[in-house]
Amino acid sequence: MDIILNKYFQSLGLAAGQHVIVHSSFGEIKKAFTEVTIENLVRNLQQLITPNGSLVMPAFTYCYKRSDGTHEVFNYVQSQSKVGAVSEVFRQQDKVLRTSSPTHSFSLWGKAAEIISQKNSPASPLGKGSVLDWMNSRKNAYVLLIGVDFNALSFGHYLENMAPVPWTDISPWDYLKVEKAGVSITGEQKLKELPGCSKPFKNFEKFLLEKKLIEYHSLNHLKSLLVSMELLYKEGLRYFHLYQDELLCPEGTCVPCDCRREKIRILHNTAGPKGSLLEKCSKKKV
Ligand SMILES: [Zn+2]
Repeated sequence: MDIILNKYFQSLGLAAGQHVIVHSSFGEIKKAFTEVTIENLVRNLQQLITPNGSLVMPAFTYCYKRSDGTHEVFNYVQSQSKVGAVSEVFRQQDKVLRTSSPTHSFSLWGKAAEIISQKNSPASPLGKGSVLDWMNSRKNAYVLLIGVDFNALSFGHYLENMAPVPWTDISPWDYLKVEKAGVSITGEQKLKELPGCSKPFKNFEKFLLEKKLIEYHSLNHLKSLLVSMELLYKEGLRYFHLYQDELLCPEGTCVPCDCRREKIRILHNTAGPKGSLLEKCSKKKV
């Protein structure tokens, strides 16, 4: 199994010394490699990247403060990752360091774990000062998608913050009674920018595919992609400036995106029929 996986990752372009953030679906991986375990997978990624590079995965828990007091409290040792089986196993492995953001912690191995503090928890969890910001400052940084697409692209939220898009500091989560703060066992932390819906990042993906700047690698129905952050950042800043209409879901199809759209209209005094969308945003029961 190790030899097969090793060859597969090499064919994607994975190499020693790269700093790689991995988003994956273990269910999709199992369809192509039926014998694989999560431990196989992580070991192979580490062997190829080596400790001179970095293996990074999100371990997000979304422990936002809620005004009705129903929030979970983040504990960086115990809180399970809510972004998939691979990330949950990885965060508990030897020599893996988990950062402290109550909402968007990351698990780090290799160089990133040596350099980034376990206390890393910026007010903009996926923006300035975040693990993504550190990766983007390196020459050799990559995003690896295994069996997932740009829907899983955390770096898309980084681009929203950096472009910036007009809704970057507007919370889309009022309808969940979310406040702009994270809660952990060490207390509350005020947040500046709350990542929202990632579905529209598929439009950015389509743009890159049409321009032939990226190409998925297909094997036994498993689609994977290794793409440099340099390319994503360069093309992303331009795309996120020029095509802002493509970066919120179509009106009426997504509550978080509608809330952001309506709040921007109110800021610009161009709101729709009184109370229409905003009413829905703040009162929807979940
Ligand atoms: Zn949306």
